[in-house]
Amino acid sequence: MQLEAIIDALKARGHRVTQQRRAILAEVMRTPGHISVQDVVKRLPKVNASTVYRTLDLLEDLGVVAHAHLEEGAEYHRAESHDHVHLVCARCGRRDSLPTGQIAPLKELIARESGFEPDFTHFAVSGLCARCRAAG
Ligand SMILES: [Zn+2]
Ligand SMILES: [Zn+2]
Ligand SMILES: [Zn+2]
Repeated sequence: MQLEAIIDALKARGHRVTQQRRAILAEVMRTPGHISVQDVVKRLPKVNASTVYRTLDLLEDLGVVAHAHLEEGAEYHRAESHDHVHLVCARCGRRDSLPTGQIAPLKELIARESGFEPDFTHFAVSGLCARCRAAG
């Protein structure tokens, strides 16, 4: 969705689109990777954190962004780039990601064994990165 289309969608749902909301939206849409509430506040010092939270919540309801829980808390990215598993190194904090398609066999195994449908995009998988493993 383009910026103006998103603003129209918010208005159509009865939300006021203030300058602050517009600025938050623009910031999120121009960020290629993950963005946290703290990142937005850092880049837009005039905007307070609760406004950022509320705006991101609205955008998530619209399906524009999605969140994932990483080591430092929730981070957002555009919904169309959400289809990956987050890997976080428990020792050095290094992050990596894997397209969900690559772990389809694991998903099928879990569904077959327990009838549970896992969502691997929502929480990061904690472990050891290649560098830390090599360091022993
Ligand atoms: Zn969540
Ligand atoms: Zn992600
Ligand atoms: Zn590491």
